[in-house]
Amino acid sequence: MTPAAVSGACLCGAVRFRVEPPTLFCVHCHCSMCRRNHGAAFVTWFGIARERLRIEAGADALRQHRSSLHGQRSFCGECGSSLFCESSERPGHVDIVLASLAGPIDRAPAAHVYFDSRAAWTDVRDDLPRLGGASGMDALAGADGEIRPGAWVGHVALAAPDPLAAAGFFETLGMRVLERQPDFALLELRGGTHLLLFPGAAAAARTPAPFDLMLDDLDAAHARFTAAALSPSPIFEDRHHRAFTLTTPSGHVLSVLSSHASGRPV
Ligand SMILES: [Zn+2]
Ligand SMILES: [Zn+2]
Repeated sequence: MTPAAVSGACLCGAVRFRVEPPTLFCVHCHCSMCRRNHGAAFVTWFGIARERLRIEAGADALRQHRSSLHGQRSFCGECGSSLFCESSERPGHVDIVLASLAGPIDRAPAAHVYFDSRAAWTDVRDDLPRLGGASGMDALAGADGEIRPGAWVGHVALAAPDPLAAAGFFETLGMRVLERQPDFALLELRGGTHLLLFPGAAAAARTPAPFDLMLDDLDAAHARFTAAALSPSPIFEDRHHRAFTLTTPSGHVLSVLSSHASGRPV
């Protein structure tokens, strides 16, 4: 359902307007002109057909600044609020600063544009597409366009007297079994790492496993593993984590940690 008309205004209220959805797009713009014009990390714009914008008050207070060959920005001459941007390349359309509206529009921001022009101190943690290049809206290659870090652990390997029994154990912990053979098993972890289980002697008592695991909800996991008779240790806390340990079928002591990833997608 298309929301009804939404009102907007500049900071001082001299300029008041209404827009009538449907809108055409909504994006976060990181271009240097938007950043400087607003004194902000980035500016959220939506586009709408020109006839769907009605200036209700203060048309005479609006001032124009030609910010590029094809672009003209309008702002309140009283308070300086940036409100509109029009481009001769898109006649009939007007871009409007989303933050000047009093209510929601018919869409959420869908992308970051001119993302490769962003301020160095901007830390974007959402998973919206990141566009840039000459048009400001091309897909970006490399680190700018990739939300996750560019490298991850490929394989970790563990010897176990009975790889299949070990596979069942790690499956209970939340890994995905990819392959079960008589003499090896392969499991998949979040992030794409593979755990290879191959036949070998059990570890000496109290040998730490060559890796640890992180889980989203340590308490829920502890309860689940207790119910599955995996006998987790009590939960303890060190400087960086809450954790417990499990003894694997290979005889290793495996630490299971609360996640302390950065909060960004991994
Ligand atoms: Zn104003
Ligand atoms: Zn911009």
